[in-house]
Amino acid sequence: MNIKFLWSGVFALLLIAITGCSPWKVHDTSRPLPAVITPAEQPGRPPSDAVILFDGKDLSNWVSEKDGGPAKWKVENGFLEAVKKTGNIRTKQAFGDCQLHIEWASPAEVNGASQDRGNSGVFLMSKYEVQVLDSYDNITYADGQAGAVYGQNPPLVNASRPPGQWQSYDIIFHRPVFKLGLVVKPATITVLQNGVLVQDNFEIKGATVWKKRAKYSPHADKMPLMLQDHDQPVRYRNIWLRELPESKNK
Ligand code: MG
Repeated sequence: MNIKFLWSGVFALLLIAITGCSPWKVHDTSRPLPAVITPAEQPGRPPSDAVILFDGKDLSNWVSEKDGGPAKWKVENGFLEAVKKTGNIRTKQAFGDCQLHIEWASPAEVNGASQDRGNSGVFLMSKYEVQVLDSYDNITYADGQAGAVYGQNPPLVNASRPPGQWQSYDIIFHRPVFKLGLVVKPATITVLQNGVLVQDNFEIKGATVWKKRAKYSPHADKMPLMLQDHDQPVRYRNIWLRELPESKNK
C-alpha cells in the first residue's frame, strides 16, 4: 500500500475521533439503514420494538423493591394500583437509555392536599424520580408537582388533568456515565405530560432525595424502572419502554 495513502487514512480517522465529524459522506449510500419497526396504529400504543412492562393483565414483569418477592399492588380492569404500605415495585429487567411511555391516574375522590394528594412517582433506574401527583388545582412546592424532576426542576407548565382522569408521560432518558467513581456525564431527561413538553432535556443533578441537594453515586449502566408507593391508590396502565442505543460519546 502506498504509504502516503495509508497516512492520509490514519489522519482522517484521527480527525474524526478528535473533532467528532461524521465519517459518512452526505447521502452516503454505504451508510447502514435504520432498523425497520412497525409503529402503533394509535398514538400512545407500543411500537413493534417496545418492551411491554404492563399490558393490563398481570404483574409478571415486576417485583417488590423491598425484598425482590412478588409485587403486591392490585391489578384490576386493565390497570394496576398502588396498595398502601406494600412498598415500591420495580421491573425485573434493568434499563439504561430509554424511551418510556406510562399512563397514570390519581384517585377520583380527593383526599388531602399538597404532597398528600395522589402522590406516586416514576423512578428511572430506580433513582431519578419524575413526580406523579394530583396537581390539578392543588398547590404544592414547584419542584414537587406532577411532571417535576422531584426536588430539582419544576415542569415548564402545569399540564395536569383533573383527578381520576388518565394522564400520560412520554419520557426520553439518558443515563449518567461514571468513570473512576465520578460522574463524567450527568443523566438527561425530556418529559411530555399529556403530549405537552414539561422537561426539556434537563440535566439531572443526582439521585432523588427528600429536602436535600441531590448528588450522584456511581451505579450500574442498567437498573430497573421503579414505581413509588406513597400510601395513595394511584393507578397505572399501558407501560412500555424502548431501549435506546447508547450515544457514541459514552
Ligand atoms: Mg412521589
